[in-house]
Amino acid sequence: AYILWQGQIMKEATAQASLFDRGYQFGDGIYEMVRLYDGQFFALQKHLERLNKSAEKLDMTLPYTSAELTHLLYQLIQKDHADNGNVYVQVTRGTSTRDHLYSRTETPILSAYLLPQKDHRQAHTSGIAAYVTEDIRWLRCDIKSLNLLGNVMAKRQAADHQCTEAIFHRDGMITEGASTNIFLVNNGTLYTHPANNFILDGITRQEVIDIAEERHINVVQEPFPKEVLAHADEAFLTGTTIEIMPIHSFTGDVQVTLPIGPITKRIQEAFTARIGITTTN
Ligand code: PLP
Repeated sequence: AYILWQGQIMKEATAQASLFDRGYQFGDGIYEMVRLYDGQFFALQKHLERLNKSAEKLDMTLPYTSAELTHLLYQLIQKDHADNGNVYVQVTRGTSTRDHLYSRTETPILSAYLLPQKDHRQAHTSGIAAYVTEDIRWLRCDIKSLNLLGNVMAKRQAADHQCTEAIFHRDGMITEGASTNIFLVNNGTLYTHPANNFILDGITRQEVIDIAEERHINVVQEPFPKEVLAHADEAFLTGTTIEIMPIHSFTGDVQVTLPIGPITKRIQEAFTARIGITTTN
């Protein structure tokens, strides 16, 4: 496997990060995960725009323009002879002697590499179990930051309850999953949390909203109380690696079993069509 490291594509073992990298010391950095389908990145420009926004919000400067980075990422996958998978891109603020205060003179460090795609075909048909729990994360979940402790803890908690994903509620309102966005279906209408500081505005979420509008499916972007989950007709998650993932049951703070319904299936089909390939996993 190859790594994009400081503008060079090199063998994995050759890339060496510093102990004094602020990403390592403080989680002071940002990232993106981009899906590669049949040799093409999906919605790469949207991911790069979001990376730029995350950088701006943290007063960081990216080392490359979006055009330069696009070129580098395609070089990376060519070197890897990869057609499918996910490319993880990380940018840290750079290295400094340990001090909370950054100086704005640090040189940002960008790395990227390919991760294999897991096979989700079974779960795409039968759905997954989700664990509903309190959102203990910070108030800037709109930034795709390397600080993921709240997400990491919730994911473990979910797994310990035989669930695949954790669903957060803050002040009684459902926000999102630990690494996904959530949609409910009620009487043919889609419901999802608005894109504000309490959630990450997922690229897949944006695609689903777009698909729904195209197909005249009503979308309501408003916070809803966790109790509403118990009365939903259908529910699904969205994310770059899981695409459109049906939820068959909630446990934890809400307990209910759901069918995998027609709207979820329609959105799945439309999403697959958008990717432009016939089989996904
Ligand atoms: N919400 C959180 C907290 C995430 O970490 C992610 C993706 O990693 C998402 C939502 C889904 O975003 P996307 O569809 O861009 O992958």
